[in-house]
Formats: sequence, structure tokens, C-alpha cells
Amino acid sequence: LFLKSIHIQGFKSFADKTKIDLQPGMSVIIGPNGSGKSNVADAVRWVLGEQSAKSLRGSKMEDVIFSGSSSRRPVGMAEVSLLFDNASGLFPLDYEEVVITRRVYRDGEGQYFINRTPCRLKDIQELFLDTGSGKEGFSIIGQGRIEEILNLKSDERRLLIEEVAGISKFRLRKREALRKLEDTRQNVDRLSDIIAEVE
Ligand code: ATP
Repeated sequence: LFLKSIHIQGFKSFADKTKIDLQPGMSVIIGPNGSGKSNVADAVRWVLGEQSAKSLRGSKMEDVIFSGSSSRRPVGMAEVSLLFDNASGLFPLDYEEVVITRRVYRDGEGQYFINRTPCRLKDIQELFLDTGSGKEGFSIIGQGRIEEILNLKSDERRLLIEEVAGISKFRLRKREALRKLEDTRQNVDRLSDIIAEVE
């Protein structure tokens, strides 16, 4: 799966529209402390559905919106898009390129898009589950992450390998099916009660 470019606007330190082009293979982001390197990695994880403000180094999701600097006023919206090459058809979509977008406004309202069409977070997660490149798929290795992987407990490491191998999707489907089964069981119980009352 090849990420061709990252488009960032109003996200953390990126007040202006910024485009980062990537080449096939490994990309390394370098720069002085505080220049926004980790913010790029945060942006990528954010689009892929990161829901924890804390893991994005904030306290609430709106903290990702550019909050102003000595020379710039704050902005009202953060938007990040990832442009993927889909020539290989890894995403089951009939497009050569796939753009995933996430947006958040100051009032906390958020939106997701696949090729500029509004969608649910779940649609994006499903798209990535099989590719091994989800938000936990270790396409992004941040500072300290390597040590963290080495220190994982065996069951945690297993989950990681399952995601990369494309098994997580089935685990998710199983969980959903079990939940539906439980809902249905409760409905049946309720119906039995009603029938007993009527009889
Ligand atoms: P280091 O090497 O120290 O980890 P880094 O290059 O990874 O640095 P980041 O942590 O990505 O740097 O960027 C931090 C900068 O981003 C800080 O200057 C911080 O003020 C700025 N920043 C973070 N969130 C926002 C925001 N919502 N609005 C404006 N600036 C922000």
C-alpha cells in the first residue's frame, strides 16, 4: 500500500495548507525539536481514526485544531487527507487513487470522507483492516515505539501480528455477530415474557 501524499490544513502546527509528497519505500521526517515532526505522524494516525485525544498529545479532540501563534489567529477547522495509490487494487474500490479525509470543527463535530464522499469511521477502518496499515498497523514508527514493540506482552504482540496479517477483520466481525446474537436472545426472552403474560 503506497501513501503518495499527505495534505494537512489547520492541524496542530500546520496552519497553512501543506502537502507532503512521499516516495515508495521508507520515508523519514527530520527537523529541529518542536518543528512539527511528530505532528505529521499524529496527522496520519488521526485520519486513520485515532479516537484518543491523549494519544494525540491533547486533552480533547479539538486540541488538534491550530490554536494560533504570535503571528497567526487560530483557525476553526482541521483537515487532513491521505492520498493512496490504489493501482494494485488493494482497496476494494474501483479507483486508481483513494483519498481518505478527516475533518473536525471547534464545536467537536467531525466528518470522514472516502474520495470526498462522506462516510463513517467504520467504513475507513474496514478499508484498512485487510491491508495491515491501520492506525495500529505500524506503518508509522514513532519515537520510543520500537522499544515498546519489543516490550509487548505476548498476547499484545499476537494482536499486532493478527492485524498485520489481516485477521483482525474476522475478529471484529465475530464480535459484531456475537453482539447481534445476544440482542436477539434478549428479544426472545422479552417475547417469552410477553407471551407468558398474555396466556
Ligand atoms: P520533538 O523532536 O521535540 O519531538 P517535533 O518536531 O516532533 O519535536 P512536534 O511535537 O510535532 O515537534 O510539534 C510540536 C509543536 O507543535 C509545538 O511547537 C506546539 O506548540 C505545536 N502545536 C501542537 N499543537 C498545536 C495546535 N493545536 N496549534 C498550534 N500549534 C500546535
